[in-house]
Amino acid sequence: MLKENLKDVEQNIKNACAKAGRERDSVTLVAVSKTKPVDMLKEIYDEGVRDFGENKVQEIVAKRENMNDDVRWHMIGHLQRNKVKYIIEDVTMIHSVDSYRLAEEINVQAKKVNRIVPILIEVNIAGEDTKFGVRADETLQLVEEIAPLENVKIEGLMTIAPMVDDPEDNRKWFKALRQMSVDIAEKNIDNVSMNELSMGMTGDYCVAIEEGATLVRVGTGIFGARNYSVN
Ligand SMILES: *Cc1c(COP(=O)(O)O)cnc(C)c1O
Repeated sequence: MLKENLKDVEQNIKNACAKAGRERDSVTLVAVSKTKPVDMLKEIYDEGVRDFGENKVQEIVAKRENMNDDVRWHMIGHLQRNKVKYIIEDVTMIHSVDSYRLAEEINVQAKKVNRIVPILIEVNIAGEDTKFGVRADETLQLVEEIAPLENVKIEGLMTIAPMVDDPEDNRKWFKALRQMSVDIAEKNIDNVSMNELSMGMTGDYCVAIEEGATLVRVGTGIFGARNYSVN
C-alpha cells in the first residue's frame, strides 16, 4: 500500500513540476513519518526515500537507531531548547526555528560538535493564533539577528499553511512566503541564503510546488491517517 501511495505522490510531484516548468529534482519529498513505526519507514526507504520528517525529538532519537545512516532526518515540529542537544549531531535540517533563543541554542550545541546546522525560519504566514512561527512582519528582523551565529546557516523559510478544504485557498499564502524569501534574498545578508522553501503538505503540496516549494512535507498521503491514541 505504501508503495502505491508513494508512486501516486511521486506522480503528482512530477505533474506539478511539469505544470510549473520546473525540474523534478528541484523539489525534495520529505516523508513525514511521525507516529509511524520503523517498519513503515523501511518500506519506503526501500523504494528510495531518504528524507524523513519528524516533529518530536524523541521519535528521531528512537527511529534513527533502527534505520540506516544515510537517512536524512528533518526536524519539522516545535523544538524545545533543552532537547536540541539530542539531535544536533545528525539532523539534516531544522525547519522550525522561530526565535532567536532557539537559534542561539542550536548554535551553541552545533559548535560543540563542530557542525554548521542548516535551518529554516518558520513563518506564521497567515497570522493564525494557533500556530508557531514568527509573524510575517517580524521575519526579516529575526533573520538579521540570527545571521551572525556562526554554527547555524539560514537556508530559507518554512510555513504551515491553514487547514483548508480547497488547496487553491492556500495559493496566496505560498505566493506570500515565496515573495518574502525573494525580498530577503535581495538584502544579501551575510551567511543567509534563501534557496529553500519548505511548504505544502498532503492537502496542498501540488499548489505549493507550483508556487516554488523546494521541500514538500507529506505524511498522510504516503503513510495514511495517523492514530495518535496508540502512541
Ligand atoms: C504532520 C506534519 C506534516 C504532514 O502533514 P500531512 O497532512 O499528514 O501530510 C507536515 N508538516 C508538519 C510541520 C507537520 O507537523
